[in-house]
Amino acid sequence: LPILGIESSCDETAAALLDGTGQILAEAVFTQSAEHARFGGVVPEIAARAHLQRLAGMVQGVLAEAGLTPRDLGAVAATSGPGLIGGLIVGASLGKGLALGAGIPFLGVNHLEAHALTARMPGLFETPPAYPFLLILVSGGHCQCVAVEGIGRYRRLGTTLDDAVGEAFDKAAKLLGLPWPGGAHLERLAAGGDAGAVPLPRPLLRRPGCDFSFSGLKTAVAQAVGKGYRREDIAASFQAAVAAVLADRARHAAAMLPEATALVVAGGVAANQAVRAALAEATPLPLLAPPLRLCGDNAVMVAWAGLERLRAGQRDALGLAPRPRWPLGDLAPPAPAPQA
Ligand code: ATP
Ligand code: MG
Ligand code: FE
Repeated sequence: LPILGIESSCDETAAALLDGTGQILAEAVFTQSAEHARFGGVVPEIAARAHLQRLAGMVQGVLAEAGLTPRDLGAVAATSGPGLIGGLIVGASLGKGLALGAGIPFLGVNHLEAHALTARMPGLFETPPAYPFLLILVSGGHCQCVAVEGIGRYRRLGTTLDDAVGEAFDKAAKLLGLPWPGGAHLERLAAGGDAGAVPLPRPLLRRPGCDFSFSGLKTAVAQAVGKGYRREDIAASFQAAVAAVLADRARHAAAMLPEATALVVAGGVAANQAVRAALAEATPLPLLAPPLRLCGDNAVMVAWAGLERLRAGQRDALGLAPRPRWPLGDLAPPAPAPQA
């Protein structure tokens, strides 16, 4: 039976339908950046209201596209953390309401697990990665290396000590006078620049482990702007520094998990071609990069993670509370919910 996925943890409003085998029946994403742009970042209150305004209609839309009604569904999965609490409440409440109305199971999905399991979807890669594989999650809110050992079995190998990598792109872009969110703008500007023109630090390069740090790089970009370097050269040099750091950290992660079968990249920054190229060369592992629309925040991945857990017997209680903080390490393999 089809499963509905709902995503509302940050600034993407998304809904998707998968059939019981994981094939995509319909999907929709709305990115709220225009609503937040003049504040230079995601405003939680605005995000929650924007989800509330669009989500139900978007669910109607994907159901209509697939020719289904809520009664045809086998389950509903909604992101229940980590993320901004207002948006999480909007999405989880809608999901619970639909599950209650249709008398079907509800699953509260961890957003990071959804990113982690996306690469296992049927049809994405010729051979889906076998466990354990490495995940490098590079988004606006997260930057971490994770050993994915099974559903609900994650070991965080390293994380950022300061900014997430997407945040670093956005701050560097702002210093270069680009609109928010600046990652993609910065990449376009960098295309016309010389990556060797501006000496920038490569934080934590060759240090043991695979933690990340980007705040020193941001400071160096601010100084380079002050010194009058060409903007395109700063952009290209910044991008090259980030790519080199990510590649170095991925190399360390691969050494920490010698059994790894693949390196999977996820998160909005995976759109960056310099980052992808550096990661592809960093380790002998095959680099698996899902299509861009499935790297950024989306509901297909939420429905898929929900389906994986549903198949393993999990059902969540309708009382499940959304969690703003919900680290991957807190997850457990699928388990049928205790009788509430
Ligand atoms: P999270 O998923 O961690 O909760 P988020 O919603 O900010 O946070 P995503 O939607 O996955 O994350 O990604 C958005 C981030 O990706 C932004 O910081 C944006 O600047 C960055 N980004 C998008 N495209 C590119 C690109 N081509 N190069 C670099 N960064 C990019
Ligand atoms: Mg986003
Ligand atoms: Fe995300």
